[in-house]
Amino acid sequence: MISLGIEGTAHTIGIGIVERDRENCTILANCSRMYRPEKGGIHPREAANHHAHHLPSLLRQAMDESGVPIEDIDLISFSIGPGLGPCLRTAATAARTLSLLLKKPLVGVNHCIAHLEIGRVMTGCTDPVLLYVSGGNTQVIAFMEGKYRVFGETLDIGIGNCLDKFGRAIGLSFPAGPEIEKLAKEGKHYCSLPYSVKGMDVAFSGILTACLHLMKKERMEDICYSLQETCFCMLAEVAERAMAHTEKEEILLGGGVACNRRLRDIVTTMAEERGAKCFSPPDELLVDNGAMIAWTGILMHESGITTELAETKVKQNYRTDEVDVPWR
Ligand code: AMP
Ligand code: MG
Repeated sequence: MISLGIEGTAHTIGIGIVERDRENCTILANCSRMYRPEKGGIHPREAANHHAHHLPSLLRQAMDESGVPIEDIDLISFSIGPGLGPCLRTAATAARTLSLLLKKPLVGVNHCIAHLEIGRVMTGCTDPVLLYVSGGNTQVIAFMEGKYRVFGETLDIGIGNCLDKFGRAIGLSFPAGPEIEKLAKEGKHYCSLPYSVKGMDVAFSGILTACLHLMKKERMEDICYSLQETCFCMLAEVAERAMAHTEKEEILLGGGVACNRRLRDIVTTMAEERGAKCFSPPDELLVDNGAMIAWTGILMHESGITTELAETKVKQNYRTDEVDVPWR
């Protein structure tokens, strides 16, 4: 089965074409364009306009790269939520159009679960705790009693959003995460920051405010270093507790912030110290991408799920644990 997946929950519009052959996932194409605001944060309407503008050429590029004739596409998958309304609606409109045009079934995919499923198939881990760290989302997810359940999450902003907002304050362009990672490598001194773990949840906005206050007093490299150490250790702590609670021996990373080497090192050390293993897919599958939507669409469809046209209304606040998971 060949699935074409459209991702468009936030800043990235992506098209992936994926083939399933038994348990194997072959990515035939995975193309994307990222909206980068000139100043300020993501403006949902402008991001949606960006996606609409790039969709036709992206589709052409993905079809060319895959070498698959359009009539060989069996399924159209799209990210139905969670995400920014205008962006989700743009991706959904493209998906509906393709489905009607090609007379192929549609599947609306939960974006967070797609990060987990592409990680599972590409790294070979089977039943992991997912530490999902992206711009808008930060969640610790694992499969239990028939569903993917959220064991911990941010109470305010996503970790990526925290990094991007701090980056904007110090004059870095979006996305700031990679630049902060570079600056943090030159950090020598840890500046005290609030450590905000509340039960199984985390919060970042207080840490962000504290970093903004430190700007006049401390070296930028030291603040970046302290910001990373604090936030990443908080994330490792809640992820470890989820592993202990669920008795799972694998931890999987997902989301753009997982491109960060320091986060990977911290989580790998945590896993090794408890006799567990840490997995992460290649960077292009960590960030938002169409291939993960295409793949999860196949898993869903082959277990009997189709999203009827009338049910393709996007779900901005779609929760991970709302999804039935008959494929596991
Ligand atoms: P996503 O929303 O999953 O596509 O990921 C985008 C987020 O990942 C943005 O907030 C980026 O700043 C962040 N990001 C990307 N690369 C890195 C990195 N090397 N370190 C930290 N954050 C990163
Ligand atoms: Mg994401």
